[in-house]
Amino acid sequence: MAETQAFVTLATTDAYSMGCIVVGKSLRRHGTSRKIVVMVSPNVSRSARLALEDIFDEVFVVDVLDSKDKAHLAWLGRPELGVTFTKLHCWTLTQYSKCVFLDADTLVLCNVDELFEYEELSAAPDPGWPDCFNTGVFVFRPSLNTHTQILEHAAQHGSFDGGDQGLLNTFFNDWAVKDIRKHLPFVYNLTASAVYTYLPAFQQYGHHAKIVHFLGGTKPWHLPYDPQAANESSFRDYSKNFEQFINLWWVEYYSQRQTRAKMEDNNEEYK
Ligand code: UDP
Ligand code: MN
Repeated sequence: MAETQAFVTLATTDAYSMGCIVVGKSLRRHGTSRKIVVMVSPNVSRSARLALEDIFDEVFVVDVLDSKDKAHLAWLGRPELGVTFTKLHCWTLTQYSKCVFLDADTLVLCNVDELFEYEELSAAPDPGWPDCFNTGVFVFRPSLNTHTQILEHAAQHGSFDGGDQGLLNTFFNDWAVKDIRKHLPFVYNLTASAVYTYLPAFQQYGHHAKIVHFLGGTKPWHLPYDPQAANESSFRDYSKNFEQFINLWWVEYYSQRQTRAKMEDNNEEYK
């Protein structure tokens, strides 16, 4: 059987599912040849789930508390890691041989299927502490064995930052030094903080961005959409201004709806 590979994302709320819509649409826009799948927790509304089903090949409803005993026990011991345990479910997607996880707050700017050439665990450095990898974009191999090991690690050691990133960095603790081939170029996980901390580098390399990551408390769906700023010419200039990525995010979010509206208009003409 030909091996199946997939991009995977996650939403535990309707707000994050808006992000997943953009992840899915941007992957499709750039013609990925891989499956695209999303994990949602049971509290995500039916309408949000239906919207995701329009875009994704699979929508998996995952519930930490209904999963295998190991997950349940680990969760009882570490209730603060609720969302993190949901993210770790990606290792149980063993119908896929290799996957690329994308946070719901990422935006894909070009075809990035070459990410599947990387091995577990490949990720880009975190801008805040570059000896840690950022878990907004990572390459992994689903495996129930690995899943169990990570849960055991979580129950024992918890997460030094309270999230999946602290946990996964202590689990894959030799990432920084062992194998440089597991370091994804920063353009696969470009965060806004790079603009503030190293603007000349952003001006030099920003236009090579492949995946933008809206890391931090303010997500694109919290910010207003400015259609005025979202014209073609300003997009060409986005390397100078991270804010343009916010508009690009909204353009992607509304893209399908615009197409549908257009189709409806056309139908009107033929009536
Ligand atoms: N997430 C979620 N619900 C939450 C928080 C996080 O579904 O309430 C998922 C979502 O896929 C998100 C990822 O976990 O992109 C990591 O969280 P976030 O992106 O907010 O963290 P940051 O990248 O800002 O550190
Ligand atoms: Mn994120």
